[in-house]
Amino acid sequence: MDTAAPAIEVRDLFKRFGPLEVLKGVSLTARQGDVIAIIGGSGSGKSTFLRCINMLELPSAGSVTVHGEEIALRDDGHHGLRPANRRQIERIRSQLAMVFQSFNLWQHMTVLQNVIEVPIHVLGMKRDEAVSIAEKILRRVGLHEKQDAYPAFMSGGQQQRAAIARALAVQPLAMLFDEPTSALDPELVGEVLSVIGDLARERRTMILVTHEMKFAREVASHVIFLDNGIIEEQGPPEQVFGDPKSERLKKFISSIH
Ligand code: ADP
Ligand code: MG
Repeated sequence: MDTAAPAIEVRDLFKRFGPLEVLKGVSLTARQGDVIAIIGGSGSGKSTFLRCINMLELPSAGSVTVHGEEIALRDDGHHGLRPANRRQIERIRSQLAMVFQSFNLWQHMTVLQNVIEVPIHVLGMKRDEAVSIAEKILRRVGLHEKQDAYPAFMSGGQQQRAAIARALAVQPLAMLFDEPTSALDPELVGEVLSVIGDLARERRTMILVTHEMKFAREVASHVIFLDNGIIEEQGPPEQVFGDPKSERLKKFISSIH
């Protein structure tokens, strides 16, 4: 691991689903501490792009490099790219913690169990240590009182904060958020954005797909507008939101106000 190298470097990523070309050469560099917001219309390829970064989807072409280590893919000549080394992918994926729109907590486990599961069973942490770290994280996201609750008995906002706590517990190199508030009732959005905002202000490296434009403008260091599988425009938030150049971005921004 080369910590002087960018946290995440994506080069010329393509993704096809059969005849459908969803990503058509997307590149991104996230340095340590960058908060990159990805915006764009529904179906523009945002989720696919995030999922390719941690190899939940395998790119059709292109590369992903994490702290200087390129994820090894090989072309088997028939099915496109395949992992050359499953263990490498699993290791790197565990360092790129993902938070999904739909929370994805383990329903049969309490909040605390959700948070300590990966540290204990994947990272080999001792239970006492995992619990003590989990308790600190749960306090940070305001869920200390809920550690023994089951997800089904919690609000969407609490569940998403628990999912963020679970992501934090692996001490990830970077966090990937895929529309973390879009499944929430409007009155619960704020409590989740406030947790993510705190993480952004701590300069944790993150890539955040969001429809919350005001929030993206506040916390992002860089904004990427993805349109139809390409980066149509990108730049600092003041520029992307305040002085958009492309007609498609102007149209997108006016459509969401
Ligand atoms: P966004 O997150 O920007 O709304 P997605 O990345 O989810 O967009 O989807 C981009 C396009 O790829 C859509 O047309 C979607 O239907 C298609 N797509 C996504 N995942 C798959 C898949 N597993 N198989 C086939 N098509 C898919
Ligand atoms: Mg999506």
